[in-house]
Amino acid sequence: MGDARSLKVTVIGAGIIGVLSALQLQREGHQVTLIDANKPGSGCSAGNAGILARSSFAPLSSPHSLLQAPGWLLKANGPLSINWRYLLRILPWLLSYFNAGLRGDLRVRGEALWQLTDQSVEMYQSLTAFANCSELIARTDYLQVYRNKKGWRKAAGDMQWRRDLGFKIDDLDAPALRLLEPALSNAYQYAHLLRDHGYVKDPQALVSALFNKFCAIGGKYVQGEVLDIGQLHHRCQVTIDSEILNSDKLVIAAGAFSAKLIKLTGVDIPLETERGYHVHCPEPQLNISRPIMDGDLKFFVTPMRSGYRFAGVVEFAGLDAPLNLRRVAALEKNARQMLPGVNTKNASYWLGFRPTLADSLPVICTAPDNPNLVYAFGHQHLGLTCAPMTAELVADLISGRTPQLDISRFAVQRLL
Ligand SMILES: Cc1cc2nc3c(=O)[nH]c(=O)nc-3n(C[C@H](O)[C@H](O)[C@H](O)COP(=O)(O)OP(=O)(O)OC[C@H]3O[C@@H](n4cnc5c(N)ncnc54)[C@H](O)[C@@H]3O)c2cc1C
Repeated sequence: MGDARSLKVTVIGAGIIGVLSALQLQREGHQVTLIDANKPGSGCSAGNAGILARSSFAPLSSPHSLLQAPGWLLKANGPLSINWRYLLRILPWLLSYFNAGLRGDLRVRGEALWQLTDQSVEMYQSLTAFANCSELIARTDYLQVYRNKKGWRKAAGDMQWRRDLGFKIDDLDAPALRLLEPALSNAYQYAHLLRDHGYVKDPQALVSALFNKFCAIGGKYVQGEVLDIGQLHHRCQVTIDSEILNSDKLVIAAGAFSAKLIKLTGVDIPLETERGYHVHCPEPQLNISRPIMDGDLKFFVTPMRSGYRFAGVVEFAGLDAPLNLRRVAALEKNARQMLPGVNTKNASYWLGFRPTLADSLPVICTAPDNPNLVYAFGHQHLGLTCAPMTAELVADLISGRTPQLDISRFAVQRLL
């Protein structure tokens, strides 16, 4: 074992979770090697909606979403779809998801997530100041909009929960909404304005800038696919092609691919992917002033620094199916209805893999069979938001400190 104050640590996965964990560990004086099969920040962390959704802690596996799911599935432009050929494979996971949704611990799970989301904006402001890329973070409110009172009412319980925890949310009627965002379709009649949030103006550039800072302060990067993971004399071993890397500690932060890697150590974790899409319009030719979420169809538009990004959709079809053009077309149609006249010429399309556990909580803990292995994955719809706090917790676990938050809800044992 190395010196407790300066350990050799390998981090697998250079998405937002792995890069921030590696940066935090390197800042604390450890000797960190970050590995990724692809360019840093090119996985799910590249194409997300960029929202620092600090008040979106309500778990998606909830009675509310279970009730709405059949309606969502029936709508061609709805937020949810299943590749029916994948249904048999995903059935056990879906059953766990339903079970979790019906359990009585919704508040406890939500408030566990809130610990990870709440300080996101401040933490990013500090991290981006350190990495000289403060211009990538915008501190702002955001809008959740609805076509009718029914949609607005459906969100009322969730909004009350947020208010109970101190979030400031204004109820808006149609004239107030028009005044704030004149480009929005007149179809929207009601809105919630969620104050004191933030967003990232270019999520991939953010990961790149933080990665560059990690390298600038001495972090090492190896590009390669991890093929095997083992232990020898209490040291961790990672095999990439023909190379073997040894370290005192190992962090697995490979997003939706984490379960495949952990299986190499003999531990089976039921991790699914909620596939999501974006349509990015480089020259939208109209103006919005803040991110807006369609509260009925569950997609966002975010004013990024190089155009507007419409992002959302949950598709269950696993990690191997190709990008589904029908989902993209539905999202583009929704985009045009939300912002009539938006220019979608030269739009680019993207598919990303959200890593999701059935109870909508991530896994942040030490492996059950190896005290030198730390897991950090499964952040579903909130990985960008939760990454700074997750990275601090990973550093606590690696450095042998008592974690600064109660992380018992994120233990992997709940899934085994
Ligand atoms: C449409 C959409 C919109 C979203 N919007 C938001 C949002 O507004 N706000 C928010 O907070 N979150 C959002 N999310 C969720 C967020 O993007 C994810 O939770 C987050 O990016 C997950 O980060 P990660 O680092 O865990 O995974 P990833 O970014 O996927 O990184 C994992 C990395 O591991 C690497 N890897 C995998 N296997 C191996 C291997 N064997 N060897 C080496 N490397 C490997 C991959 O190459 C990849 O780079 C959104 C997601 C989607 C799909």
